[in-house]
Amino acid sequence: MNNFVIAGNWKMNTNIETTISIIKNVAEQVDQLNEVKSTIVICPPFTNIYVAVQEAKKSKHNLHVGAQNCHFEESGAFTGEISLDMIKSLNCDYVIVGHSERRAYFNETNADINKKLKAVLKNNLKVILCIGETLEDRQSHKTFDVLETQLNGCLQDIVENDMKNIIIAYEPVWAIGTGVSAKTEEIEEAHNWLRNYCEKKYANAGKTVALLYGGSLNDKNAPEILNVSNVNGGLIGGASLVPEKFVSIIKTAESLSK
Ligand code: PEP
Repeated sequence: MNNFVIAGNWKMNTNIETTISIIKNVAEQVDQLNEVKSTIVICPPFTNIYVAVQEAKKSKHNLHVGAQNCHFEESGAFTGEISLDMIKSLNCDYVIVGHSERRAYFNETNADINKKLKAVLKNNLKVILCIGETLEDRQSHKTFDVLETQLNGCLQDIVENDMKNIIIAYEPVWAIGTGVSAKTEEIEEAHNWLRNYCEKKYANAGKTVALLYGGSLNDKNAPEILNVSNVNGGLIGGASLVPEKFVSIIKTAESLSK
């Protein structure tokens, strides 16, 4: 298995000034480490990506910058939307698709997400695909049916060779932004299920695809969560906005890397 992926999703937070100061602070702390094996990705709002990339470049390590969303069309009459050509020209290399907030508040369907995912790959960028069940799904014992439907829909037409550019983030909706993460047993069960799904569908590529956990992951619970089998990193919301917490999670990942 590859090393950990530690990705921060800033959501609709920060401006130019705070973007520079957070990344500067993260870079200064990370630069004190001689070697960084983890892949670090920071996903600010679109308007801050340009300065984020400029600031991230100053680090001696490779700090990646990603977008939180994209439109699947190349260009045209889609007022307010952002194309992958625009994202690519900012020199960022990851795009999150299918975040539960986009599914819930912007009615994104698995079919929409599949179109976005294919467009990201066509533009030679990497995808962080989010999936996860709601509390209602979990309580009615539908977790794995929901995950399977999401994966089948979002990964439609995706072949083994594409998987090297895809990361899957398991984010139980009920754990996002609540301050209460899923229990390690729940995470382990879901990640083992996911690994099994990926291996069955994508053979060798399924064995190595990074499976991130997301949902109130922070500096305190990272040692336990990142140690769960088949957890290859984290997608972090709230704690990624606080440099000390984000760097602490990175350091945990480093200490667990082989
Ligand atoms: C997220 O936004 O993907 C997320 C996991 O948020 P938080 O860490 O705040 O729960």
